[in-house]
Amino acid sequence: MPETFVYQWDTPAYKGNTSLSTGLFIDGKWVDGSNNTTIDVINPATGKVLTKIAEGTSKDVDIAVQAAHKAFDTTWGLNTPGSERGRLLYKLADLIEKHAEEFAALEALDNGKAFNWAKMADVGLSLGIWRYYAGWADKVHGETIETASNQLNYTRHEPIGACGLIVPWNFPLLIASWKLAPALATGCTVILKPSEFTPLTALLLAKLTTEAGFPAGVFNVVNGYGSVVGQALSEHPTLEKIGFTGSTLVGRKIMEAAAKSNLKKISLELGGKSPNIIFDDADLDAAVQWANHGIFFNHGQVCAAGSRIFVHAKIYDEFLRKFTEKTKELKVGDPFAPDTFQGPQVSEIQFNRVMNYIESGKAAGAKLHLGGHRIGTEGYFIAPTIFTDTTPDMKIVQEEIFGPVAAIIKFEDDDDIVAKANDTVYGLAAAVFSTNIKRALTTAHKLRAGTVWVNCYNNLAPNVPFGGFKQSGFGRDLGQHALDNYTNVKAVQVNLA
Ligand code: NAD
Repeated sequence: MPETFVYQWDTPAYKGNTSLSTGLFIDGKWVDGSNNTTIDVINPATGKVLTKIAEGTSKDVDIAVQAAHKAFDTTWGLNTPGSERGRLLYKLADLIEKHAEEFAALEALDNGKAFNWAKMADVGLSLGIWRYYAGWADKVHGETIETASNQLNYTRHEPIGACGLIVPWNFPLLIASWKLAPALATGCTVILKPSEFTPLTALLLAKLTTEAGFPAGVFNVVNGYGSVVGQALSEHPTLEKIGFTGSTLVGRKIMEAAAKSNLKKISLELGGKSPNIIFDDADLDAAVQWANHGIFFNHGQVCAAGSRIFVHAKIYDEFLRKFTEKTKELKVGDPFAPDTFQGPQVSEIQFNRVMNYIESGKAAGAKLHLGGHRIGTEGYFIAPTIFTDTTPDMKIVQEEIFGPVAAIIKFEDDDDIVAKANDTVYGLAAAVFSTNIKRALTTAHKLRAGTVWVNCYNNLAPNVPFGGFKQSGFGRDLGQHALDNYTNVKAVQVNLA
């Protein structure tokens, strides 16, 4: 039997407790992994082991896939009306709301997020997403198409079947919700593979699906390493779909595995190196606030992070001064302190990765304007960092750092700013700041990115699609478009003659 993770947070600001099975959740039951091995879950604020979770294997993946197929064929899929699926999704949303502080605390503990931000952003947005797709559950339908008078043609949007959902560590509950909610709303059954670094909120969610009344096998969680569990899902011969968010490197592997196995459908939300363009007619104070949030929110661990901030030469000095002041105000520290904005990076690996990028920026000749160092002696805290005087070929300008590191780049010429902004293999997001609507929108339309924010940054809404151009992936999460990720269109052609 899997162990239970029992934990109490009793800080001056926040008190609460959790009690969670650390097993795999397959066919409505908590089980150990078939090898009886475990994975340590580390608290990144201390570097110490928080708990251990059961480690899944390819055998466990296979058992979970069989359970998901069985549930699809017998209790879910076409067996449950959309209105009933919607009712269960609403019920789950209510339970998430009831457990909002527990979810936020689990994100703070194994991801290192500031508790208050996790509650507002991760849990708050997740709730909106569950309710949005609960509403869709009985509204996914096809059309009738006219051909000849003695012919009836109509389409049905049917659930794809059993889906593997592989998610990263930066927004564990939120990104899982992006995929789970539309998948379950349309009638698919799911096997969720959380990141091995941040499995705890997935376990709480699994517990609540039982309480909400989802039939066994509809929602399964297989914890484990990407190279084992993620790979086994991707190459599984009967799984019908992978919904993935993560790095471009792993996205490629999933595409290869899908191609070599059963040509399962895939949707990929991948990395980014997003440009943020501040024109000389921007509202400077607002641009400073948004751009700062654009790069430093969630410790820079945001796929859409505005990590290349292009500032017009006329306002560059003032922008840099104000941006630096704002950055110095960001409170880095204990995720459970109420005024903390930035906690630790998620893991030692990520900490080292970000520090190596900072070293590479210095070595390549960029000017380290602020930060660039570790904070404290335990945990994985990095000071918010600003580089200036970069060149386009530098690694810190080309590659996704996924940490609190901004490059502020001066530009003089409006005519070539779009080319500079688009000079990346990625195309996830971008932003434009200008008080001239024509200039802002003309630029927005030329940017090669799935989302362009105008005079704001990092805004997300359940009903607005999100996803990438170029090597940032394909398929859209959120909004009505996400329903397409989990449905097949069937045409029924009836001869009435
Ligand atoms: P990652 O690609 O290393 O891991 C993501 C998930 O894939 C994890 O669950 C991991 O265990 C699994 N995985 C690893 N190897 C695998 C394999 N061979 N087969 C199948 N699954 C495997 O990414 P990460 O480090 O967890 O997250 C950071 C990355 O995610 C960044 O590149 C970031 O830009 C991206 N991201 C993108 C979005 C988006 O919406 N586009 C959102 C958040 C994060």
